[in-house]
Amino acid sequence: MIVYKSREEVGTMDRCNREVVRILSAVAARVAPGVSTGDLDRQAERMCREAGVKPAFKGYRGFPCVLCTSVNEEVVHGIPSPRKVLREGDIIGIDFGIVLDGYYGDAAVTVPVGRVSPEAQELMRVTRESLRRGIAAARAESRLSDVSAAIQGYVESRGYSVVREFVGHGIGTSLHEDPQVPNYGAPGSGPVLKEGLTLAIEPMVNAGGPAVRIHPDGWTASTVDGSLSAHFERSIAVTADGPLLLGGEMEGL
Ligand code: MG
Repeated sequence: MIVYKSREEVGTMDRCNREVVRILSAVAARVAPGVSTGDLDRQAERMCREAGVKPAFKGYRGFPCVLCTSVNEEVVHGIPSPRKVLREGDIIGIDFGIVLDGYYGDAAVTVPVGRVSPEAQELMRVTRESLRRGIAAARAESRLSDVSAAIQGYVESRGYSVVREFVGHGIGTSLHEDPQVPNYGAPGSGPVLKEGLTLAIEPMVNAGGPAVRIHPDGWTASTVDGSLSAHFERSIAVTADGPLLLGGEMEGL
């Protein structure tokens, strides 16, 4: 069941996502060779505590950390660790969510660690652009799969593939609400988008094939072929004036 939000609720979700963007930006700015993913997680947890907001992922189905940190061929849901030290040339996807006044916010960016290859730069650029195009397609009276098709069409036109096993989602008083938002599909199907619909749109893009495997930790997803993967995510609201980027613009997205 899709839950449409009032303007007041959308306002609360905007405030919530401003905190997500603020903390995620600070964590992303800390990324450098020699920093561990555990360091990033500790920073995010401290900033949540100082802001008086509750991290959304820690404890979610037993997930142990505040951030998901996914390095290189890891797609999503990597578990931060003090033993996982970033190296020059890596790319890292950082996914982060909170609850504020009963509403969830969720966003992710992929950033370079020092200098990275032109191939890694291009993968991040294409994934970021596919999210922009997906968001732009989230207009009232469009269909949900128009968002999916905008993402898939752009990604595949650049020679990359979209992951099927994980999808975007509705968001509100729960982290994951209806509808699911796949990053693939033909346009013109699924529910008609209406004002008050709030979605977390999150393309996961692989440089090689789309297949993923789950590690023995039960969480980390990696590409089966070992190719690089990138992930960007923002929460948005469908409004009469077009898609509203909840939390506002952020550097890197
Ligand atoms: Mg999400």
